[in-house]
Amino acid sequence: MSMAAVEVKDLVKVFDRIKAVDGLSFYVDEGEIYGLVGPNGAGKTTTLRIIATLISPTSGEVKIFGIDASKKPEKIRELISYLPEEAGAYKNLTGMEYLRFMAKLCSRNPAETEEMVERGISISGLGERLNDKIKTYSKGMKRRLLIARALMTLPKLAILDEPTSGLDVIYSFQVRDTIKRFVREYGITVLLSSHNMLEVEYLCNRIGLLSRGRIVAEGPPDELKASYNASNLEEVFMRVSNND
Ligand code: ATP
Repeated sequence: MSMAAVEVKDLVKVFDRIKAVDGLSFYVDEGEIYGLVGPNGAGKTTTLRIIATLISPTSGEVKIFGIDASKKPEKIRELISYLPEEAGAYKNLTGMEYLRFMAKLCSRNPAETEEMVERGISISGLGERLNDKIKTYSKGMKRRLLIARALMTLPKLAILDEPTSGLDVIYSFQVRDTIKRFVREYGITVLLSSHNMLEVEYLCNRIGLLSRGRIVAEGPPDELKASYNASNLEEVFMRVSNND
């Protein structure tokens, strides 16, 4: 039996009185692109942050390649990269300095650092602008830098919170292409969240529709469309939401 890249069981996260995640279970196979989709406040970001070991769940279990996230978070951090929904920091570094700094943290030797930086340069598509300070970048340029950082290290699992949010049409297209290519060429596994139904339909092997902290429908995009008799995922989403 092959081991799942991600296994989430009965996950619950309560903030004060808000139940952000309410008994969530799903798995992601190795080499798969899995998308969490759902309305604002459904619990996507909270779920991804728990899986990335940034916050602890109230209860439930997360295993990454068979490793228990609550018992060995430091092991998990070696296997994953996490692209947060919003991120700032390192404003006074240039894009290039930032990529090199992050590559050094993840690599075992200078040659590997250089390989990662080269990959990062290419993914970012920022060209000469990599020599400018990050504080001079547009929102989309920062996003491109962060995506480059998340993929250049070839993590076993990339956790991408709304990877193309704030990106223009052309660069969104390139990012989706890069994600697909990295899965194909390097066998990485991707868990992402998105508001863009076309995007998940194009990218994901399977998607989970999240509502109020639970998965209300799950499967490959084509199967979901067929079982809800819908011509696109947006329709599936509207039908599931109406029944919920
Ligand atoms: P969006 O699509 O808007 O990004 P989301 O699906 O990512 O939404 P979450 O950010 O996970 O949703 O939020 C789920 C619920 O948990 C929301 O009601 C939110 O207000 C609440 N929540 C999230 N983080 C915190 C926190 N640190 N403290 C209190 N409540 C929180």
